[in-house]
Amino acid sequence: MSGTSHQSTMSVLSSQEWDAISWVLLDMDGTLLDLCFDDTFWRVGLPNQYAEAKNIERVQAEAHINRIGKEWYGQLEWYCIDFWSEQLGFDIRPAKSTLAHLIGFRAGALAFLKWLRHSGRHVILATNAHPDSIALKDTRTDLCRWVDVVLDAHAAGAPKESPDYWQWLQEKTGFLPERTLFIDDNDHILDAAKAAGIRHLVGVHTPNSQAPAKPSRYPAFDHFQELYPVSI
Ligand SMILES: [Mg+2]
Repeated sequence: MSGTSHQSTMSVLSSQEWDAISWVLLDMDGTLLDLCFDDTFWRVGLPNQYAEAKNIERVQAEAHINRIGKEWYGQLEWYCIDFWSEQLGFDIRPAKSTLAHLIGFRAGALAFLKWLRHSGRHVILATNAHPDSIALKDTRTDLCRWVDVVLDAHAAGAPKESPDYWQWLQEKTGFLPERTLFIDDNDHILDAAKAAGIRHLVGVHTPNSQAPAKPSRYPAFDHFQELYPVSI
């Protein structure tokens, strides 16, 4: 049985820890879904389209996009399709759609979502993604059917990097911080969740299946089977 090897190794979270978790907050891009899509869009798809639209060299297009990205990183604008469309002078949605074949779950994510659903816990998609990005990804993966509610940063009016997002989420869901798990591939966002009092925090080693693993300052995993006892 293939699950046996996973049972013999330590889970990132023990059965005892799982017993103490009633709310599970999940990031989308790089956590449930493969960041390969987003990385390809920002590094290849969008610079190509901008270069074509402005009739400039690709390297110039890339530099321009990186400049805007650096200035707005970690702010709600950085995650906003409308902001980027305004900045670049065209709707960036079609460029996303042309890469939609790259959208997919990370290893073991769907099985994990099914397990969570059967476990009876509250499951919340906590993402900075723009609602149109969520919709595009849901069309490809049917992701949203496995969560109780989607609570995105645009609805909150603040990104997950901000304490305002966590206060809003707490008011929306009534989660008890000491009984809550949050999983995210961004350590800075995990820091913000920690500051908001969330007890169980887990990072991701391989947000992009096509890129090398990265370290995290938090307990982290690659395949979702490392996260929970398979036998439960
Ligand atoms: Mg992420």
